[in-house]
Amino acid sequence: MHKECIPIDYKSISQPVLACPVCNFFYVHPVGLECRSPGNSNGHVRIDSKGIHLNPEAPPSGRGVLIILHFTCECGHAFDYEFQFHKGNTLVECKTSRLPHDPSLRPETIWRD
Ligand SMILES: [Zn+2]
Repeated sequence: MHKECIPIDYKSISQPVLACPVCNFFYVHPVGLECRSPGNSNGHVRIDSKGIHLNPEAPPSGRGVLIILHFTCECGHAFDYEFQFHKGNTLVECKTSRLPHDPSLRPETIWRD
């Protein structure tokens, strides 16, 4: 499923907060970020709850840098915002999915206290 806007909730707390593009719930967790081709033609960096993962040999994606932000919402949705640089523009795409029913298979928040 693809969505085109980035929903922000301005009413639920005293600050604007990211909302889930599927259900508009405002309990959203950052679970990962990725950068493909971070500064040269090859390379992939991923940050998630397990730490920083670097693969300097990963091939580039498209003709420019690809940045992906991964989130989950507490209603059981996963959504990713992808930003692909291409010929002077930054293309934006949102990909959504259902989280696995088994909580042990769900991605964890990158960091929380
Ligand atoms: Zn949701």
